[in-house]
Amino acid sequence: MKYLKLSAFAFILFAYQAKAQSSGETTITRWPDDKRGAVSITFDDGSINQFKQALPVLNKLNLKATFFIITGQIPGSRYQGEFTGRPVGSIIAETATVPTNADNFYERASAAGYLGLVGPLDYHYKAGSLVDAGKLAEAYAVMDELYQKVRNNEFKPGIQHNTEYMDAHGTTWADIRGYAKQGHEFASHMVTHPRLAALDEANMLYEMQSSRLDILRELGARYTFSAEGPFGTENERVMQYLYKVYPALRNRMPEPWLKEISRSNLSDPGNTDKEYIQFQRGATTKTPMPMMKAWADTTANKTNTWLVLTFHGVDGIGWEALTHQQLDVYFSYIKAQDNKLWVATFGDAARYIRERQSASVKATSTNVGITVSLSHPLNKAMYNLPLSLKTYVPAGWKKVRVSQGTKTSTVVPVVQPGGATRYVLYKAYANASPIKLRAI
Ligand SMILES: [Zn+2]
Repeated sequence: MKYLKLSAFAFILFAYQAKAQSSGETTITRWPDDKRGAVSITFDDGSINQFKQALPVLNKLNLKATFFIITGQIPGSRYQGEFTGRPVGSIIAETATVPTNADNFYERASAAGYLGLVGPLDYHYKAGSLVDAGKLAEAYAVMDELYQKVRNNEFKPGIQHNTEYMDAHGTTWADIRGYAKQGHEFASHMVTHPRLAALDEANMLYEMQSSRLDILRELGARYTFSAEGPFGTENERVMQYLYKVYPALRNRMPEPWLKEISRSNLSDPGNTDKEYIQFQRGATTKTPMPMMKAWADTTANKTNTWLVLTFHGVDGIGWEALTHQQLDVYFSYIKAQDNKLWVATFGDAARYIRERQSASVKATSTNVGITVSLSHPLNKAMYNLPLSLKTYVPAGWKKVRVSQGTKTSTVVPVVQPGGATRYVLYKAYANASPIKLRAI
C-alpha cells in the first residue's frame, strides 16, 4: 500500500513536469536575467549635491538612478513659473466680496505664488497640502486668510521661490546631458515644484506640459517617459491630468497586476495574488541603515518585488539630506546583491514590467530547433527594452545558439535539479525577427 501511494505520487510528479516543462515551452522571466527582484534608486528635486556628491558614488558602483528635476530653474529653460488666467488684480478684488468656494479656490491657489508679493506662496503650499489630505473646507479658509492679508497690504513686494527650487540651483542642461549619457534617467518634477492638487486646469497643465517641452528639447523623447508630481501627491484629479502627459508616474501606477505600497504605508510587501509589488520607500535622516538594508533584503528574498527608493537632500542641501558616505554604504550593499537584484532606472523597470505584462510569446518546436516569436502592442518608440526569455530545450542540447535577426549568442543550458529538464536564458526584442534556438 505504501509502495503504491509513492508510485502514484511519482507518476503525478512526472506527468506534471512533462506537461509544465516540455521542450520549447517559453516564458518571459519576471525580471531580466531571471533575477529575484528589482531596485530603482530615485532622487527628487535635483538639489545640487545629488549631482556633485551622490552621482559620483553611483558611477563608482556602476548603478543607474533616476533624477526628477525642477525644469524652470535650469538656465536656458524656455518655461519658468507663471500664472495663466485673469489679471491678478481682478482676482484679489473679487475676494473682498466672494468667499473662497469650490468654483474659485483653484484660481486663487494658482495665483497665490504670482501676486508679486513675498509670503503668499506659503499659502499655496499650505492649501495644497490640505487638498492632498482631502480637507477642502480648510483649504478654502487658508485662501480667505491669504487674500484678506493681501487686501490689507500685509506683504512686501518681491519674487518668492520655494525651497526645492532654490536648492536645485547650479546645474545646467549641458551637465544633465552628460549625466544622461552615463545612463542615468532624467524625468519631470514639474516647472516650479508646485502643489498640483491646488492648481486649476490651465495652471496644472502648464506645469506638466511646459516641463515636458523643455525636457524634450534639451534631452529628447526618451526622458519624457517618467514623472513625479511633487510631494508624492496621489490626488485623483492630478493623476488623471498627469497620466495624459507622462506614461509612468512614481506617484501611482494603477495597473491591475501591480500591488502598490506607497512611502506612507509602513507595511512590508506581504503576499499578493498580483504579479508584481511596487514597494516604495523613502529614506530620511531618521531612517536607520539596518532598516534601509532590510528593504533590499526583503526584495531579494521575494520574487515579485520592485523596491523604489526615494531620496531628497544630499550633504546638507535639500530636504532630509543624507550624507554621500551613507549613500555609499547603502548603494554598495545593494550592489553586492546584484546577482539577485536588478538595479534599473524607474523608467526601465516600468518599461520591463509593462512590456512583459502585455507581451505574447509563442514557441514552435521542429526537428531543426525551436522558433520563438515575441510581440507586444505597446508604443514601440517608448517600450523598447529587451525581455529575458526562458525556453526549455531537449535533454540532449549541451550548447544552444540563440539568434534574432543578425544578433547571435551561444548559451549553455541551465540543468534543473535531477537533470531531467534544462532551459536556456536569453534576451530578445519584441516586435522584431523571430528568435531561433539551435543545438550546436
Ligand atoms: Zn519634490
